[in-house]
Amino acid sequence: MKLENLKTYYILRKGLFGRLVVKAVDGVTLEFKAGEITAVVGESGCGKTTLGRTSLKLIEPTDGKIIFEDRDITHYKGDMKWFRKKAQIIFQDPFQSLNPYHSIYEILSEPLVVLGEKDRSVIDEKIISVLNEVKMTPPEEYLTKYPHMLSGGQRQRICIARALLVDPIYLVADEPVSMIDASSRAEILTMFRNIQKERDLAVMYITHDIATTKYFSDLIAVMYAGKIVEYGPTKKVLKNPLHPYTQALIDAVPDPDPNNRFRMRPVVPGEPPNPINPPPGCRFHPRCPKRFEPCDKEEPVLKEVESGHYVACHLFK
Ligand code: SF4
Repeated sequence: MKLENLKTYYILRKGLFGRLVVKAVDGVTLEFKAGEITAVVGESGCGKTTLGRTSLKLIEPTDGKIIFEDRDITHYKGDMKWFRKKAQIIFQDPFQSLNPYHSIYEILSEPLVVLGEKDRSVIDEKIISVLNEVKMTPPEEYLTKYPHMLSGGQRQRICIARALLVDPIYLVADEPVSMIDASSRAEILTMFRNIQKERDLAVMYITHDIATTKYFSDLIAVMYAGKIVEYGPTKKVLKNPLHPYTQALIDAVPDPDPNNRFRMRPVVPGEPPNPINPPPGCRFHPRCPKRFEPCDKEEPVLKEVESGHYVACHLFK
């Protein structure tokens, strides 16, 4: 999956004739390769979910290109079944994304039926196999259950199973563990990582929690106000974060302190940018402790500052 200078703008009506443009994604270029997990990291409202959904053609892009398996699908309007089989999403909220009136068997058979599978024995075989893969065993025990009979972690395993059923090669995992118990998070991420390696999947892992990327991703793209401000191999970026925003995100990760149950999670200081009216120059400049003369006038571009490590900041000429 290649995204080239991708832009997704929303138009908001204001009054009778007025309109406001929300630049949710504003010129993103990224590539997702088989066998790699790329984490897209940033605060709420930075555009990361819109980026994931635009890559899947769930939202129409405003400009730029979406190239999938060397095919330009940016404005493709035909039958998308072939693409839906190869590109899937795991949603953030396992409570909302499963139909409460359908059994697990119905939930899992639906995507196969919609995408054209008619043979019941093939459907049953695939469901049993994928339930084993996500460690819902013995699978037969879960087929007649309903979502409310499962824990949050088990529901998210069902969501992962549903995405894997059609054998995709590209997956968007949108904050897949943010709404489940802290005790199940590591287990689910480890399981997902193993499946991703075995299946050689290309994954866009969307998260606001940079701490989880350390064990879970190969590459990091840090997003701020619709733009990528730092990109590179996870180890390099976490060991040597160059952009002041990445540094602030890392500083905002709390040290585990089992003695203080009431400790608040620190956040990046300052107001997040307004996507309708982003500031001129570097979009981070109103919050940046290192801003200097050109920062409020010239917009920095993403540059390679060491092998494979890119940053958009005037500190790096
Ligand atoms: Fe800070 Fe300037 Fe770099 Fe933006 S360009 S991150 S304001 S130093």
